[in-house]
Amino acid sequence: MSVPQIGQASGTCSRCGRTYFARRPAREVVCECSKICERCGGKMSPVTDLPDPRTYGKVENVHGQRVTLETTGKCDDCGWLTEDKPVEVRLE
Ligand SMILES: [Zn+2]
Ligand SMILES: [Zn+2]
Repeated sequence: MSVPQIGQASGTCSRCGRTYFARRPAREVVCECSKICERCGGKMSPVTDLPDPRTYGKVENVHGQRVTLETTGKCDDCGWLTEDKPVEVRLE
């Protein structure tokens, strides 16, 4: 008896080039590169809250970065801020 071939969905991250595979049906995954600090390799946490107006524009970390309305992530370890949107890889 032969096992039926199950179609595999795949997709490549437009930012880092990682390729993901998954069983169909097609879906989206957030690429790992969006979750890793580009400075220290630590874990990035999403920043979804708007900055507190009292702290807006104030230097936030040792890198001299400021939280802005575009800030989307912050490193748990070194405090690095990013304005990059998480990359959603469409698997199809
Ligand atoms: Zn990626
Ligand atoms: Zn970091």
